[in-house]
Amino acid sequence: MLPVLVTGGAGFLGSHLIRILLERNYRVIAIDSLWTGSLDSIANIQDHPNFTFLRHDVTLPFTGIINDVSQIYHLACPASPKHFVKNPIDILNKCFQGTKNVLDFAVKCNARVLLASTSEVYGDPLVYPQAESYYGNVNPFGPRSCYDEGKRVAEAMAYAFRLENNLDIRIGRIFNAYVPGMLPSDGRVVPNFISAAIGQKDMQIAGDGNARRCFQYVGDCVLGLYTLMQSSCLSPVNIGCDDEISIANLAQLINDIVSRKTASAPVDVLFTEKSDDDPFRRRPEISMAKEKLQWQPRVGLRDGLEMTVNWFLAFLAAI
Ligand code: NAD
Repeated sequence: MLPVLVTGGAGFLGSHLIRILLERNYRVIAIDSLWTGSLDSIANIQDHPNFTFLRHDVTLPFTGIINDVSQIYHLACPASPKHFVKNPIDILNKCFQGTKNVLDFAVKCNARVLLASTSEVYGDPLVYPQAESYYGNVNPFGPRSCYDEGKRVAEAMAYAFRLENNLDIRIGRIFNAYVPGMLPSDGRVVPNFISAAIGQKDMQIAGDGNARRCFQYVGDCVLGLYTLMQSSCLSPVNIGCDDEISIANLAQLINDIVSRKTASAPVDVLFTEKSDDDPFRRRPEISMAKEKLQWQPRVGLRDGLEMTVNWFLAFLAAI
């Protein structure tokens, strides 16, 4: 059988996805420019006989880089908000040109493509929870527009390729996933809070802490993507956990876990100015995933955070 391609394979979700593909005996080619990803995340599979890594930027054509593949998981794009303000043009280009190159290549190979989309396509939602039928409430001209609109244009491009080229597309709208392995410098809320608590520094919350999110553990998320790829589900599907928590309660939960594990005092929580366009409340409607994919998240937030804190403590002890 032809190999499976994973773009963004050295990233958090990509590297975990590759592991479950290798466990299922797929041959896997990972492409990554190492823009945010790292070879460390795939170090323990580098020598796997069914695995190949190619350093390549998806915004450049694939010609001569890679031969036919059967399926493509297109994950190459940074997901941490810290890049949205630093590199917005680059992010738009990755979403547009990167996705176009992947889809052009998929047409050549007649490969099925799964696009890693995001809950950010719903923007700052006005309906709750967000079902796939909701069109979203996105600011096209603001600090998060490069990512939110970039991912929307990627979905639109996938639709256009299906229409014009009959390309076989799956779309997973991923809601906040956290991963043991996210470094303190990642910029997303879970690693931010864990590294603050371990380092005995104040946790900083942008806003009043009442914003609510639903966090899913990486293993659940990549299994959802894998299941979606195998399915016949042609419309976008939310891949997320529907257990909601406020950011203030998340801070407290992480404080509790870290202080218990390290026998240190909980750290203070500081509230700073809310970031522009940061959505207030986001929760996926996951009945489509449950019904059509027979998938739902299994790892509870406390258990997932315990594993993530354990990883952080081991990582920090080793450096
Ligand atoms: P990540 O930043 O860890 O991984 C992205 C990977 O893409 C990195 O390894 C990076 O080096 C690579 N990359 C970036 N630009 C590239 C380019 N031009 N060419 C080749 N490689 C490139 O992010 P992640 O959390 O693993 O997210 C993976 C995908 O899932 C992204 O498309 C993201 O938008 C989507 N997503 C993630 C989340 C989440 O919570 N993690 C939520 C919604 C959507």
